[in-house]
Amino acid sequence: MTDPAIRSVLKEDRLFPAPADFVTRARIHSRDAYDARRAQALASPEAHWAEIACELHWYRMWDRVLDWKPPHARWFGGATTNLAFNCLDRHLHTARRHKAALVWEGEPGDVRTMTYAQLHREVCLFAGALEGLGVRKGDRVAIYMGMVPEAAVAMLACARIGAVHSVVFGGFAAEALRDRINDAGAKVVITQDASWRRGKEVPLKVNVDRALEETPSVEHVVVLRRTGAAITRVAGRDHDFHELLASAKPRTEPEQLDAEHPLFILYTSGTTGKPKGVVHTTGGYMVGVFASTRDVFDLREEDLHFCTADIGWVTGHSYVVYGPLLNGATSLMYEGAPDHPDQARLWSIIERHGASILYTAPTAIRAFMKWGDHLPARHDLSSLRLLGTVGEPINPEAWTWYHRTIGGGRCPVVDTWWQTETGAIMIAPMPAVVPQKPGSATLPLPGIDVSVVRHDGTECGPNEGGLLLVNRPWPSMLRTVWGDDARYVEQYWARFPGRYLTGDGARRDEDGYLWLMGRIDDVVNVAGHRLGTAEVESALVSHPAVAEAAVVARPDELKGEALVAFVTLKTGHDATDVLKTTLADHVAQEIGKFAKPDVIRFAAALPKTRSGKIMRRLLREVAQGKQTTGDTTTLEDLNVLATLRSDDE
Ligand code: ATP
Ligand code: MG
Repeated sequence: MTDPAIRSVLKEDRLFPAPADFVTRARIHSRDAYDARRAQALASPEAHWAEIACELHWYRMWDRVLDWKPPHARWFGGATTNLAFNCLDRHLHTARRHKAALVWEGEPGDVRTMTYAQLHREVCLFAGALEGLGVRKGDRVAIYMGMVPEAAVAMLACARIGAVHSVVFGGFAAEALRDRINDAGAKVVITQDASWRRGKEVPLKVNVDRALEETPSVEHVVVLRRTGAAITRVAGRDHDFHELLASAKPRTEPEQLDAEHPLFILYTSGTTGKPKGVVHTTGGYMVGVFASTRDVFDLREEDLHFCTADIGWVTGHSYVVYGPLLNGATSLMYEGAPDHPDQARLWSIIERHGASILYTAPTAIRAFMKWGDHLPARHDLSSLRLLGTVGEPINPEAWTWYHRTIGGGRCPVVDTWWQTETGAIMIAPMPAVVPQKPGSATLPLPGIDVSVVRHDGTECGPNEGGLLLVNRPWPSMLRTVWGDDARYVEQYWARFPGRYLTGDGARRDEDGYLWLMGRIDDVVNVAGHRLGTAEVESALVSHPAVAEAAVVARPDELKGEALVAFVTLKTGHDATDVLKTTLADHVAQEIGKFAKPDVIRFAAALPKTRSGKIMRRLLREVAQGKQTTGDTTTLEDLNVLATLRSDDE
């Protein structure tokens, strides 16, 4: 059977070029030069990546830039380097020595700043402490913490000695932590007594104690005192973070690691299925993250880079910790919830610290919209000069709101497409030279070669929806799935040999801009039209009453599949049958009659992963009246699902 093409129905033709004064000051400010660079990178990708790599520090240079035995790649083979050295030591002999590396704000309002010199000192000490606990090169270390500077210290300390870190998001329960510790075979767990979330303590150490009942590989636990919560201390196993530091012998010489030495394991969000332990290595990841941070965020020496992602996700790894530090920038880290003590917390943080770049997720932006314009209006956000988004397709409505209300119309918005697997941003506008279209991630970065293809692998025409593939290896690509190379081969490379299957649907418009249409698994088939659910959702969100929408299909005898829309409303709108009809008509008007949802259900909340993404596979089961199957450990709030099911009756 040949599947018909995925039909794109999103109509969006507004164009937002960067303001002139942004362009004049930007790092990359000539479109012609940028196009030339992209063309050159496409023609000789290895030379392109090698040129970037030369800006970083290597103990030994590579023999070959790329060794590609599909689907296994080795980048910068033969080279040795150290990521922590590149993030820290490299800056110590420059004017950045006493520059803030991290500016951190705790949820209760406490603020700490760590300069490069201070961060370096702590990392050396903690690296020494880990060695004192018997951690050696290649050993796995689980980091189960909140957003505290010590989490970054722990990651960098692992990188310094060549231990492989596996950060487990601090919002996960004991079972999810246990499974991830066991999958990676972690020897040490680094945690804290508790973390702050909406004024309440999340009992991390209690969760660790429970998880460790069934984790034979763990020998030691390091506990940071954060909230002062009462904890039990298992003698011989548990150690206090600061006591360890006080007695540690600093590890001043970084370990000289092979470029392909594993740097970290990170489990994906689990939006579509069981999370995968994605493995990244040292050299290639460093190069990809270094260049993408600098270019996409147009990073300048004086920037204060505020990425709201938790370090438990890849965005936190690449754009809170490694990317900014590799560039000698200042990264702003916030510990708590965006609605504590009130829903203006982020705006208050931006105003008080003077953040110049804000990088957040569509789910957060839709929440900000729902909470109301009056909140950002109370704060001076004029320090912002660039905005970014990642994690899901952003609805044009949310994009323009972000641009206008948060960016005051003067900040370019970079919609960045990438995945845990890609390590770094793959598709995004260079803010000064690629005019933005709301809802489009625009163009692939130099050196990144993507295609949108039909099911038979042939290239789609303009505006024809298809599968997004990456045609060639890139330095920050995943190398394998931890402990399951067969899954790596099968999931990403089997269908189109030599080309990486992203799992996302996309189309390329007549200007070459890429529009992400959601996951291939979420494509619905209505009366012969294959639609990306993201577009129907965007049509719903463009109605003034709608805060958020998720569209899934259920089997229908007549149409093949019928559309079921789950809708959350903005404050002040009532869930009435009249509104249901209005919304269905609105979709018909925006897209066409065929896309009109057959059922609209109002919901107080949608089931999301802990990284904030809508879990459509669970909604599909609700819509079809089925039991929930598959992995739900990444679900943020099980009650949401229960409520949706009880609404069913
Ligand atoms: P799993 O792979 O376990 O189902 P996940 O795909 O949600 O989880 P991540 O690696 O955190 O895990 O997310 C990457 C995915 O997020 C992408 O494949 C894409 O579907 C979506 N995504 C990220 N950024 C964007 C963006 N700018 N536009 C559209 N979609 C995006
Ligand atoms: Mg994925």
